[in-house]
Amino acid sequence: MLSFEDDSSLTGLPGLAIPPTSGFVPATVARAPAEPSATHRRVSVEDKKVINSKADVNQLVPFKYRWAWEKYLAACANHWMPQEINMSRDIQLWKDPRGLTDDERRVVKRNLGFFVTADSLAANNIVLGTYRHITAPECRQYLLRQAFEEAIHTHAYQYIVESLDLDESEIFNAYHEVPSIREKDEFLVPFIDTLTDPAFVTGTPEADQKLLRSLIVFSCLMEGLFFYVGFAQILALGRQNKMTGAAEQYMYILRDESMHCNFGIDLVNQIKLENPHLWTARFREEMQELFRRAVELEYRYAEDTMPRGVLGLNAPMFKEYLRFIANRRCQQIGLDSLFPGAANPFPWMSEMVDLKKERNFFETRVIEYQSGGALSWD
Ligand code: FE
Repeated sequence: MLSFEDDSSLTGLPGLAIPPTSGFVPATVARAPAEPSATHRRVSVEDKKVINSKADVNQLVPFKYRWAWEKYLAACANHWMPQEINMSRDIQLWKDPRGLTDDERRVVKRNLGFFVTADSLAANNIVLGTYRHITAPECRQYLLRQAFEEAIHTHAYQYIVESLDLDESEIFNAYHEVPSIREKDEFLVPFIDTLTDPAFVTGTPEADQKLLRSLIVFSCLMEGLFFYVGFAQILALGRQNKMTGAAEQYMYILRDESMHCNFGIDLVNQIKLENPHLWTARFREEMQELFRRAVELEYRYAEDTMPRGVLGLNAPMFKEYLRFIANRRCQQIGLDSLFPGAANPFPWMSEMVDLKKERNFFETRVIEYQSGGALSWD
């Protein structure tokens, strides 16, 4: 039986390798809770800040950041699970030696090779990094939902790998073994490591810029750029009535990811608003340099996955697409555009982002849900 009776002072919660957050007193440890302490003060909206707030992070209300709360509600309303999607047509097509060309098979395997570990990186970045440094409870609420969605995405990719009976070891090791995938991850990892370093704390302009830099890389470049060659390729397969189960999974993932990206951008803009001193000319230049590098890396990935034209797509089309997306991300966080005049060669991708859950795009969805009432606890 658990007992907290021996704890005579406020220490970290058992099992958590973190010190207690300032202002947080676990109810089980507090000795005399009857009277509010002299230092206790109710949280007001003015106390709340996205970073470096001293207000109690356990109090969701009073709301200040409604945009974050509304994204949390929207994300919950979009809930889906990979097993809801019927994969039988994909399995049949994959097993048919004439079902897909070698180039199409390469696209599918490279795609899974990148994504199957990318969403684990994303989840770890949130849970072990970002979450600790964000002090607005509305934003933390969304990050908790986002972390679960990253787990669902990893599940979806694993489910596709298993359904198609692919070589798991080949796919799950692609981020070590395929240079175009490894280079993208090597670009990201230092920015994730900054946030997950137990010694990293915010509160100085230098540290706050480090956090802001990692948040921009994560939302604008990882979720907002590095996912888009892969999404466009699989959705192009689906548009040609191939791998429709996988394509449907990717459509739900794309919808989630576009919200992750938009949440990250709102977060960046809120931090800028509350800490304008961080947004220096030098910092902006540095960000643009990172955007340029990310476009290069994603383009190299496009070339590697499409050595020849496939599905009516080819790597040069993606050069324009990536420039178009990079401009959009720059504009969203208030940076000057990097590639003036870049146009979107895939307008159908924008329609996909706006997918509503009710829409059964490829008509392959299994419309059978297990409701709470159908669960048996025997
Ligand atoms: Fe994500």
